Amino acid sequence: MQDDHRPRKRFGQNFLRDQSVIERILEAARLDGGSRVLEIGPGLGALTDRLLESAGRVEVMEIDRDLVTRLEERRHPRLGIHQGDALLLSWDEVLREPPYTLVANLPYNISSQILFRILDCRHLFERLVLMFQKEVGERLCAAPGTGEYGILSVLCPLWFDIRRVVLVRPGAFFPPPKVDSVVLAFEALPAPRAAVADEAFFRRVVKAAFAQRRKTLRNTLKAAGFAEVDVLAALGDCAIDPQARGETLSLEQFARLSAALRP
Ligand code: SAM
Repeated sequence: MQDDHRPRKRFGQNFLRDQSVIERILEAARLDGGSRVLEIGPGLGALTDRLLESAGRVEVMEIDRDLVTRLEERRHPRLGIHQGDALLLSWDEVLREPPYTLVANLPYNISSQILFRILDCRHLFERLVLMFQKEVGERLCAAPGTGEYGILSVLCPLWFDIRRVVLVRPGAFFPPPKVDSVVLAFEALPAPRAAVADEAFFRRVVKAAFAQRRKTLRNTLKAAGFAEVDVLAALGDCAIDPQARGETLSLEQFARLSAALRP
């Protein structure tokens, strides 16, 4: 690691230095010479160099200009460098030859926004290997009815199989973060796990159901602008108790409910 770079907190810079974690990430990415990779936040390149050894082509998006300058000094012919905020860059323009494997030790403050972006761009990816703050990772794998279950625990499994790769302690990074982390692998499903005809509407229903966790579905859907008569009819069609809370519904139940509510 080049140690003359002072890690910038505002960019969530905690650089990986534990080689065994890097190995686990690479194993989970299952790359070969034909693979194309997107890495968000390459930083000092701890993962990037290893990705370039295994994959045919690596695109990186990095917000920090100083780090971009260092990456450019590598002059690697199979490395595409895109300076900017990964939330603002056009992924369709950068990733012109899908499918890609997305590998990232994500800045924790933007991990949920990145996940929503991934869902919007899921046509570009066959696999994702992502590092999260442990609590966020647990939410993605949470079961209905638990405190961790939330919007992304419904939306991500619709399109991906998600498994835990490795728990990562703070000492694996420089500087060490205050929290534990976890690496998750997402495999794109050949077809969505549940029938969803109108994805935007489905998201609206899921978001509404979790907007006020303590409220019943009947009230929270009403508060989101659905007419009470339609809400009660749809819940009846799906045999869901109107007094139930959104956080108790499975992905399949959300899919049926959104189909029944859809005008
Ligand atoms: N991949 C490196 C590693 O594992 O050592 C660095 C990981 S560090 C947790 C996060 C990286 O994401 C930093 O390089 C940071 O500058 C970059 N970053 C932060 N916010 C970003 C954003 N919005 N878009 C692109 N890169 C970002």
